[in-house]
Formats: sequence, C-alpha cells, structure tokens
Amino acid sequence: MNAIFVVVLAMGYVEARTEILSQTVNHMELSSEEMIADSIFEELKDEAAAQQEPWNPWASQFFPCVKEEYENTGLYELLLNMPKGAVLHVHPSAMGDYYALFDLVSVRDDCYFNPSYGSFELFMDSVPESEWLNVSEMLASAFDEAAMRDSLINYIVIDEDDEYLPDVWAEFEQMFGRVGGLFTDPAVAYHYIYQAMYVYALIDNVQHIELRAHTPSAASVEFYLGVVDSLAEQGIDISVRIIYCDSRYLFPGETIENFRERIVSSMKAAADLMVQYPGIVVGADVYSEEDKGATAFYMAPMMEEAREYSMAEYGFELPLFLHDGESSFPTGVPDSPVSLLGPYPGNVNNNLIDAYLLGVERVGHGIELAKLPELAEMYAEEGIPLEICPVSNQILGYVPDLRNHPAVPLMRNGVRISISPDDPAMFGYTGVTFDFTVAVLAWDLSLSDVKRLIMNSIEDAAMTDSEKDELMSLWQNEWDEFISFTIENR
Ligand SMILES: [Zn+2]
Repeated sequence: MNAIFVVVLAMGYVEARTEILSQTVNHMELSSEEMIADSIFEELKDEAAAQQEPWNPWASQFFPCVKEEYENTGLYELLLNMPKGAVLHVHPSAMGDYYALFDLVSVRDDCYFNPSYGSFELFMDSVPESEWLNVSEMLASAFDEAAMRDSLINYIVIDEDDEYLPDVWAEFEQMFGRVGGLFTDPAVAYHYIYQAMYVYALIDNVQHIELRAHTPSAASVEFYLGVVDSLAEQGIDISVRIIYCDSRYLFPGETIENFRERIVSSMKAAADLMVQYPGIVVGADVYSEEDKGATAFYMAPMMEEAREYSMAEYGFELPLFLHDGESSFPTGVPDSPVSLLGPYPGNVNNNLIDAYLLGVERVGHGIELAKLPELAEMYAEEGIPLEICPVSNQILGYVPDLRNHPAVPLMRNGVRISISPDDPAMFGYTGVTFDFTVAVLAWDLSLSDVKRLIMNSIEDAAMTDSEKDELMSLWQNEWDEFISFTIENR
C-alpha cells in the first residue's frame, strides 16, 4: 500500500489533503532565512501573475511575443541575480547574442548578405559574387536603418512573426547555416564566445557550463579553454566541459555506409579527444531533429563499436550524453530501427529506451519519458538526469503551452531534471534566466524547487566527485549571499 495513503487514512479530509500536497509537491527543507526569501519570491510570482490574463497567460503564448513581459518582472530580476549552478545543455554557436554579433560585423566593409538564402558571410580575402549585398551599404542606404537591421537579424533569430512557420525546425536549422559565415573570422568567433561566456558568468550568474560542440578538434578545445583563461585573468570564473557532437541526419549525397562510418569515427574521435583533454572533453552525443534523423536504436551498434574501441585503446567506456526523447511522436510499437530512408517511418519515438540501454550519463531533453511511466521510474531509480530546455521546447513546437510541460510530472515522480537554454541566440537571448523565469511561472515552482533544480545541475555535471564538491561549496556561498541580498533589498 502506498505510504502516503497509509498516513492519510487516519486523518480528516482537510488534513489529509494538506498532507498529500506537501508530500507530493514540495520536498526540500529551507532555512529560516530562505523561508523569508521564499515569501519574497512568492510575492514576485504573484506580481507577475497579476499582469497576466488567467485565460491567456504568458506560458501559453509564443515566447518571443511575451519575452519583454517576462523581462520586465521583478521575478526575472531576482532570477538573473540568483546563482544558477551549471548550464548542462547549450550549443556554443547559438549560446550568445546574435543582435550584438550583427552589430559587430555589420560595420565592417567585408560583411555580405545573400537574399536568396538569407545568409551572411565575411569575405575577408575574396570578392563575393554579384548576388551578395554589402551589409553596411544596405544599412546606410535604407530609408529606415533600424527596420532594415531588424529585418536582417530576423534571418538568424526566431521572433514573434515566426509563430506559425510550417516547419520551425527547418527554419531553425537554416539559421545555423545563415550565421555560420560570420564565424569564419577567428577574431569574430573569439569575440562572440568570449562575450557569451562573460554574460553567463557575470550577468547570468552561472558557475559552470557544458558545451555541445560540433565535431570539435584539439584547436577548438584550446579555443574554449583560451576564452575561460582570459576570463579568469579578468577575475571572472566559470568552468567548462565539452561534449563532442555530430548530426544524426543523413547529409545530402551521403550514403548510409558513409553515415555509419561518420558516426563511428566521430564517437572514436570523442574518445581520442577525451584522452588528450582529460576532465575537459567528457563524452559524445548526436543531435539534430530526432524524428528526421537516425533513431538511437539504429545508432546503438555504432556507439557500441566506438565503446569497444575506447575500451580497447584507453580502458574506458565512452560516456554518452544523448539528445533523445525530444519529440511529440507517440512512444510505442511497431517501431523502425531506421529513420534515414524516409521522412517519418513508424511515426513513433522510442529513443529513451535505447538511451537507457546504452547507459547514458544524461539525456538532452527526454520529454518523451512522461509517456513511459515505468521507464521513468527506472530513470528515477538510477538517477539518470534530463536536461530540460523549456523555451526551446516551446519554440520548436513540442510544448505549445508550457504549463503542460512533461518536466512537471517527471520531476514530481523523482526524475532528476535541471534547466538549460539549448540555443538561446536563435530565441533572442543569452543565458538561462528566461528558462528559469518561464519554468517558475508556468510550473508554479517554489524557491525550494528552484534550489533543487540548481543543485541537480551541479550534482549531474560531468565532473569528478571532488570537483562537484568544490563547485557546490562555491555555489553555496553565492547562494547564501543571494538569500541575504534578497532579504535586505525587499
Ligand atoms: Zn540541444
């Protein structure tokens, strides 16, 4: 018999109701100081709620349409200052500020725009063909320069006009290609990542970050470490880990045999890089839209092959941090091992079963888990964490109304989750504060819930136990300061 049921049997109705609520919703004890901060936190939530129409709250509206409303709340301000531990899921080229990136390059005379593709490029040593338009000239000759800037940035940022795109993923992925030509200048790439890391560390109050980098080389690892060192020289501390990623798509012109070889060789390269940069490069992943790419079932033998290699060569099993369960498809049977040959074979997504069988370290997204309660129980029991990215999940169409996010039942059922931003540049922001703000309001999180999510992010970081202890005590000091600051400035 369920333990709560036994307890409430002997109680009156109201007492039993209170007991069930406290047992099923809130688990973490707060200190007396934290309880004062919690009451301030609740007041700020109420203030934000009072600005919304109950029948059409911000959580049910497309994020870019209500971004400013979130930003203007006292709750956002408080969450911005809150030390947020670790960001465990962010893609480096989409982690920073594309508005600032545009302003950095648009004043240069070698920055061009291609209207056929909506793409940007820096032609440092070459001359563009006629279809490329010079960006600084476009801005200078525009009737309304600010409107021209906005219309150009719209090619790389999803904004309020993009709510009803027929295929948001297609647009989203084109954006990576459109912006990629701006990173061909290493100085621009450096400036972009430096500024982004600066914002995470100093403005957003994040202590640790784990980057999903696309097939990084030793030079790219050195690049990220260089940024972290430069920040440290300025007295700005943030630690970094890198997860080696490749795409689960069959690329145009790629044969299935080539695809298999690419995934295996990427995973082996991840293991090689882990040996070259121990404690910095921490494992491997495959990404891109799951339901248009290879299933985890299809790629499992490739991952096993790479693991046999890492075990034989280096004596360890390649750790996996897989993007899986980011889908709206039903889970179920029959499923197909291959999604490569047709657009949506089977129309089911069972990737979280494979992620479990592959002994994944953490799962990127994993929102499908709510559809498989018994598997969710297995994830909960074994402490396999999910990296939840609420804004991304809404913009990419998985959870149109964030109040219904699967993270809520998962979290209440003991699955470990933490909060991350995924690709915030494309969603018009930098950092993870917006993700916390939407989660707090949409899921009615208490300060205790938020503290739990942050502590999860540290406990689930790809670090050794002693590194985690160090990070936790660093965060705890900042948290105590934050609590005192919140009480003093109420
Ligand atoms: Zn991602």
